[in-house]
Parts: sequence; structure tokens; C-alpha cells
Amino acid sequence: MEKYDVIIIGGGPAGLTTALTLASANGKFPFVEGKNYLVIYDEYSDLDKALLNNVPGIEKGTLGKDLLERIREQVSEYKNVKFFKGKVVKADGEKGNFRVYLEDGKVLSGDYLVIATGFHKFEISGLDLEVVPHPKSPRPNKIMIKHNDNKVRDGIYVAGLVAGEPTMFACASGSGAKVACDILSEWAGKTVVVHDVPNDQ
Ligand SMILES: Cc1cc2nc3c(=O)[nH]c(=O)nc-3n(C[C@H](O)[C@H](O)[C@H](O)COP(=O)(O)OP(=O)(O)OC[C@H]3O[C@@H](n4cnc5c(N)ncnc54)[C@H](O)[C@@H]3O)c2cc1C
Repeated sequence: MEKYDVIIIGGGPAGLTTALTLASANGKFPFVEGKNYLVIYDEYSDLDKALLNNVPGIEKGTLGKDLLERIREQVSEYKNVKFFKGKVVKADGEKGNFRVYLEDGKVLSGDYLVIATGFHKFEISGLDLEVVPHPKSPRPNKIMIKHNDNKVRDGIYVAGLVAGEPTMFACASGSGAKVACDILSEWAGKTVVVHDVPNDQ
């Protein structure tokens, strides 16, 4: 069975930013050495439908699907991240030994799970998570998973809209970065962020 340090379920802005932040810590901290990450994503993200005029730093009129592809390419530059396209139907286990079951029968294993599956529905069985109405959705019948500061329980985090964030790119992406820093901080036993500075400073 393939084993990962963190399995991220969801390849929208939240899941991809979690992966990017975790991966970019490589080479900076000894505690991430050798760690590997997996992003599992299904058919589409909400961003695929968007025309973007208000994402900071992104040219007005950019298509959401183009930005998503650009971020996927950016994440792919890190060799410690793998992508898997498929639908997760079940997950179980505990910190250090989660199993994630895909619709096609494949089973993957991870130490941590990050759930970043958006706010439309949550149909992954086996984890006994509390799914409640989304508190900030402009439309009815959207959901979030109950959590405490993005942590659901030991080893399980939620990021993006499934964590109750407003449906804006920056909020979903920021939530993914926050969860990655939380996991890195847990590994380090102290607060960790991932920053770079130009060589001449
Ligand atoms: C029409 C439209 C226009 C928008 N315009 C703007 C805008 O102009 N500006 C702005 O800031 N924001 C905009 N947004 C909002 C923005 O797209 C969302 O806030 C953002 O995409 C949410 O990110 P997320 O990662 O939380 O969820 P999503 O982007 O929904 O990603 C969820 C991911 O989880 C995956 N997934 C779900 N279930 C499973 C499963 N069982 N197995 C495997 N994978 C799974 C999906 O395939 C997807 O990859 C718009 C959204 C829409 C719909």
C-alpha cells in the first residue's frame, strides 16, 4: 500500500495551497526531510467555473480553471508531492495510520489527513465526522465539517470551504496555508511558517 505523510483530499485552492506550503518547507527544516504528500482530487473544483477579477496579484479576467492549472503546475515542481485523480469514498484509521479508499478500489495510507473537499456535500464514510450547515454560504444546503481551529481530531484537519470559510479564493487558499503551518508546527513542537528571502538580504 502506498504510504504518505499527509494525504490531502481535494485539489481546489485549499487543498493545493496546503500541498504547496507543506512541500515548500522541504530543505528548510530537518523535521520535514523525506516527507511526502499526496493530493487526491475528483473531477472539478468551484474555481473551474470562475472568472476572476478580484484575486490579489492575479490579472483581471483570468479564468479560474487557468489559475487552477497554474497552481497545479507550481505544486508539481516539488517532487515530494504526488497527485492522484479519483473519488475518495471512504477513509478510516487514526493518526499515523489512516487508510483512504478510492472508488476504483485503490487504497492509500497516510499519517495525517487534510480534508479540503469544498462545501457542496461530504459523502466520505468511515471517519464519523460531524457535518453541519455551512455558516457563511450565500446559498442554502451547503455544508461544513465541525472543527476546532481547523483540527477535527488528532491527525485530521479541514481546510477551505469545508472548514466554513467564505467562498472566496483568498479565504480558501489562506485556510490551506494555515492548516499546512499547523501541521508543520505540530511536527516541530513550536510555531512554524515557511518564508523565503532574496539572496541579497
Ligand atoms: C461560479 C463561481 C465563481 C466564483 N468567482 C469567484 C471570484 O470571482 N473570486 C473569488 O475569490 N472566488 C470566486 N469563487 C469562489 C472560489 O472558486 C471558491 O471559494 C474556491 O474554489 C473554494 O476552494 P476549496 O478548495 O475550498 O473548494 P473547491 O474549489 O470546491 O475544491 C474542492 C476539491 O475537492 C475535491 N473533492 C470533493 N470531494 C471529493 C472526493 N470525495 N474525492 C476526491 N476529491 C474530492 C474536488 O474535486 C475539488 O478538487 C467562485 C466560485 C464559483 C462557483
